Amino acid sequence: MNVTTQSAPVPRIYFSWPEGKPGAVTSSWDDGTIYDHRLLEVFRSHGLHGTFHLNSGLLGGCGSDDGFHIEESMVRDLYAGHEIAAHSLTHPNLWTLSDDLVFHQLLEDRRNLERLAGYPITGLAFPCGRGGDDERLEGLARRAGLRTARASHVDGHFSAPTNWLRWGVSCHIEGFHKAWESFEALSRADKLFFWWGHSYEFEKKYGWGLLENIALQLQHASVWHATNRAVYDYVQAWRALLWSLDLHVVQNPSSQEVWFLKDGTLFSILPGSTLQLQR
Ligand SMILES: [Zn+2]
Repeated sequence: MNVTTQSAPVPRIYFSWPEGKPGAVTSSWDDGTIYDHRLLEVFRSHGLHGTFHLNSGLLGGCGSDDGFHIEESMVRDLYAGHEIAAHSLTHPNLWTLSDDLVFHQLLEDRRNLERLAGYPITGLAFPCGRGGDDERLEGLARRAGLRTARASHVDGHFSAPTNWLRWGVSCHIEGFHKAWESFEALSRADKLFFWWGHSYEFEKKYGWGLLENIALQLQHASVWHATNRAVYDYVQAWRALLWSLDLHVVQNPSSQEVWFLKDGTLFSILPGSTLQLQR
């Protein structure tokens, strides 16, 4: 008797950004200056999102009042719909400080910002551009309860970082157009573009026309616009999916909808649900 056994083709499962968007864009903005008002107006009118790294010890209304930093009382409303994140209490070069002093800078900034924002602060940008190459600072950021930490080095990968506490960027403002061209040329479904800067740089150096130009370009790109934290949370939710060994059943234990590609077809799975995929 001839018995032929033919195994079913193995499903090919791949990552997708929300709604099957073929890329994601995030950005981060440091120092919490009054020019964030104008940057946010442009962001809101073009549907862009950003993470704003504030030094809570330098905000107006808490002793400095230099007219350059935004007022504490404005923080919650100004950044609504975006992410508020840490940048240390008073912007020292953390690399020069002892562990206790770094810890103080991170924890006190977190504590103050949580009071102003009304939610747990999980993001950090290392002040003065240092940190992305420093194991000690990475460890202290982790112990301070931070989940992401942006450094200023350009990693050139256009993908989620392997180490979220040494998160490199795609470009600074001035490198936007060149980096964006490279990003657009990629066909990977998991590609991520991360640009950063300071809003005052548009006022003092590049001109606001550059921001309008970039915002218009991003608005019309087929990408998911997200804060740093939204990117982190989404990737964690994707990684938390539970798959049966034959890849025909998937469960989503997270609190958000997750999309994926199976054999080229887009699926999504709702939070807390189980999905039976066709054989
Ligand atoms: Zn800074």
